[in-house]
Amino acid sequence: MSTFDVTIIGSGPGGYVAAIRCAQLGMKTALIEKYATLGGTCLNVGCIPSKAMLDSSEHYFNATHSFAAHGIKVDKVEVDLAQMIARKNEVVAQTCNGVKFLMDKNNITVYQGVGSFVDKTTIAIADTEGNNTTVTTKNVIIATGSKPNFFPGMEPDKDRIITSTEALNMKEIPKKLIVIGGGVIGLELGSVYARLGSEVEVVEFADAIFPTMDRGLGKEFIKILKKEGFKFNLETSVQKVENTGKGVKVTAVNKKQETVVIEGDYCLVAVGRKAYTDGLALDKAGLTANNRGQIEVNDHCQTAVPNIYAIGDVVRGAMLAHKAEEEGVFVAETLAGQKPHINYNLIPGVVYTWPEIAAVGKTEEELKAAGVNYKAGQFPMKALGRSRASMDTGGFVKILADATTDEILGVHMIAARAADLIMEAVTAMEFRASAEDLARMCHPHPTYSEAVKEAAMAATDNRAMHI
Ligand code: FAD
Ligand code: NAD
Repeated sequence: MSTFDVTIIGSGPGGYVAAIRCAQLGMKTALIEKYATLGGTCLNVGCIPSKAMLDSSEHYFNATHSFAAHGIKVDKVEVDLAQMIARKNEVVAQTCNGVKFLMDKNNITVYQGVGSFVDKTTIAIADTEGNNTTVTTKNVIIATGSKPNFFPGMEPDKDRIITSTEALNMKEIPKKLIVIGGGVIGLELGSVYARLGSEVEVVEFADAIFPTMDRGLGKEFIKILKKEGFKFNLETSVQKVENTGKGVKVTAVNKKQETVVIEGDYCLVAVGRKAYTDGLALDKAGLTANNRGQIEVNDHCQTAVPNIYAIGDVVRGAMLAHKAEEEGVFVAETLAGQKPHINYNLIPGVVYTWPEIAAVGKTEEELKAAGVNYKAGQFPMKALGRSRASMDTGGFVKILADATTDEILGVHMIAARAADLIMEAVTAMEFRASAEDLARMCHPHPTYSEAVKEAAMAATDNRAMHI
């Protein structure tokens, strides 16, 4: 029986990053993954494939919607969905192979199979051919991630009632795609198919899209998406989704308590994800999942059993790849006796639509609820020369700062390349910068980042210059 200092169950961005850091710190490390490819949800059916499809569909959208205005004539532009998906699969394969390379480079022992506890220091691994291996280990990191969630009446059949996994592997472009859930997956994958020509209708339970983000973002983004042909049913509760053979029928109740029936050819269920612990036999290690299916951990990502840690989507907090990665490094360094830290307030959130949406820190709603005296500075992207040059005039940057100290408390933006722009805000906030600090830094011209400077000037004492 092989013995390890640390055994990690799950090879997503939490697990494989934890494995690398443990190995770097001199621990004898094992990684167990039930699927044949490494990388978890993020690399196989999440972040990477969705961004590949977003990029491809954006090229098509630009070719059909903005090339002419740029003075580029193209005769006939067609979508080859099979090729688009084949390219996406190639990107996924290269990225997953990259993780295998990193495991080998760092001398990490990889086991393929379902890992389950025999006791708190013994893990059994069952592969698909029925072979069983057992390892003993001083420490365990559970990084088993999450699966799509759904509610009664909307059970995915993976044929016409689909999750993000099937939406990334469609055989045809839906004529009409109904999306349940106006959150990140619904609007990213809804955007992919809207750009490719689908009619997209969103049914959202809350009174806003992205209800947990700063409300200003959702309001602005609805306007942008409506121009692209999206339809929205807010405050609408889905009762039933039926596969009618040739399509789907969604029955819902709107805020006036009227029954609404929406028909389409596919229905994407995107109402969140739930922590995944099936097959782990947690009880054998003396652990149980909480009523949300998550593994409870303390501030050190340590479970109730001291040698067992848990990270990423399977524990509390944002279900984001970079949050899982931070926790992976955090636990590895904790095991090595270091004193790492994670600033959970500064984990940025990004939606990879176009324009992109990005945020860090507190929302206006959170500041109001906490009774914080804050000021806001906002700058519209359309006022920038850079935006006009690229025809990316939608959106704004908003900076929230403490009314007394001027410390930046939150930054929220819809903008071309917001996914990259947000890092300026994260860096500034990590160093506890004031809005005036950002306003006084020289930003290159012409760039989208000038909107960050202008929003900071607007927050400082309403002295933005280009509005
Ligand atoms: P996972 O990536 O879910 O990995 C868990 C792994 O554990 C899986 O490979 C699973 O097979 C394995 N496993 C489970 N049980 C066992 C067992 N008993 N034995 C062995 N192996 C086991 N996040 C972002 O930050 N940015 C994005 O752009 C983004 N886009 C996304 C798009 C989509 C469509 C989806 C679905 C998610 C997206 N996410 C994104 C979220 C991101 O994928 C997750 O937050 C991230 O993958 C969580 O990492 P993890 O390591 O906790 O778990
Ligand atoms: P989400 O939490 O972003 O959105 C779910 C939406 O569904 C919410 O707006 C919610 O109000 C709504 N909803 C819930 N129940 C409903 C119901 N019964 N009827 C109608 N609407 C309902 O979840 P998601 O979009 O499924 O994504 C899951 C996770 O994956 C997220 O936590 C996200 O962090 C992660 N993810 C991240 C990215 C990214 O970082 N770009 C991309 C995709 C997914």
